[in-house]
Amino acid sequence: MENIQAIRGTKDILPHEVIYWQYLEKTASEILTKANYQEIRTPIFEQTPLFERGIGEATDVVGKEMYTFTDKGDRTITLRPEGTAGVVRSYIQNKLSASGGVDRLWYSGAMFRYERPQAGRQRQFHQIGLELLGSDAPRGDVEVIAIATDILKALGLKNLTLQINSVGSKEDRLAYKQALVDYLTPYKADLDADSQDRLTRNPLRILDSKDQKTQEIAKKAPSILDFLGNDSQKHFNQVCTLLSLLGISFELNPRLVRGLDYYTNTAFEIISSDLGAQATVCGGGRYNGLVSQLGGVSTPAVGWAMGMERLILLLEKLQPLKATSPDIYFVSRGEKAESEALVIAQNLRHHGFKVELDLSGSNFAKQFKRGDRSGAKICLVLGDSEVEEGTIQVKNLETAEQKTLSQADLITNLLSTEIR
Ligand code: ATP
Ligand code: MG
Repeated sequence: MENIQAIRGTKDILPHEVIYWQYLEKTASEILTKANYQEIRTPIFEQTPLFERGIGEATDVVGKEMYTFTDKGDRTITLRPEGTAGVVRSYIQNKLSASGGVDRLWYSGAMFRYERPQAGRQRQFHQIGLELLGSDAPRGDVEVIAIATDILKALGLKNLTLQINSVGSKEDRLAYKQALVDYLTPYKADLDADSQDRLTRNPLRILDSKDQKTQEIAKKAPSILDFLGNDSQKHFNQVCTLLSLLGISFELNPRLVRGLDYYTNTAFEIISSDLGAQATVCGGGRYNGLVSQLGGVSTPAVGWAMGMERLILLLEKLQPLKATSPDIYFVSRGEKAESEALVIAQNLRHHGFKVELDLSGSNFAKQFKRGDRSGAKICLVLGDSEVEEGTIQVKNLETAEQKTLSQADLITNLLSTEIR
């Protein structure tokens, strides 16, 4: 029988890789916490209409990429393809806005999209993201962008570019859509198939097409920035001014869009030049219409999500991170010694030492070899004679010094050294 393999587009995160994930999670959560964002954990599956309404049926994510199935109770269920819809659903359902103030939430976890797997693109992948709910201030947009750039900086990542745009208000977009369709229609035959389809369904997304020919055409399209009304223009100018005030550099990209009606004003992406084709590490923007779209009281909001696999790819290139070694490798042989070692090891752990107990029962030479390989600073040795005498041998693996201690003195002695 053939061994069962992980599903295409999924990946095990192995122990030597987990270190990078823990480092990323710790760095991000510290920065998020400093800006008083609170973590929220929502379910991995939700009712399908949440995503249809919360992401939009005209998007690739909903149109083509969702893992949707019917459960045994005949409900239509979808594995979350992104985090915002679930967070907003929870925000409404749990009345998190009851205080009437601003709510700052972050999340991280697995997301699922049926896409063609490649470097930086999986079917189960992970995002870390935040949502700032209850403020329409340009300072809110800038706060979330600054947190993103702070996280990337703290991770030591370089060669990143922040691109920003404004998609204006619903009304601004209506005028722009018409101008865009008027511009694109004569080129219809030259657009990729998806974009031809979008010309009627969701023309803004054509600007986002990855097809080269379509991109060439889109380059000369009218700019949405020329269609912003006064309020949108003012909001966008303030965002740009405040970014500069914080010393955050950015590029304007008028082709950067979110195609749906509940997106408003700011849209942004952070792009790496070290990742090849899947280069966007962070995508976000303002979505003032989403909370009401999902049945809540109209609430302005802005947020972003980072693709964790892509960040890990960058981190792995940047610096080798190693798992920490045990402080102590514990070698024992003989029935009595082995059970006594178990007790002493436990006691050492309770005193704060990281202890690996050799469970092999093999001869001392083999156990010592494993001790050397473990990276531990100290090897403890317990055999029949030590048990009889109530002693234990302490071998310093860095200096090869060896001494015999009474078991009663072991902890005090080790605590006075600097092995922890
Ligand atoms: P892309 O253009 O790469 O498909 P997207 O616009 O679909 O991205 P968002 O929905 O904005 O992406 O998600 C935010 C981030 O999550 C992306 O910038 C990317 O880093 C990451 N991401 C999205 N889809 C995947 C995937 N299938 N595998 C790994 N990471 C992903
Ligand atoms: Mg995508």
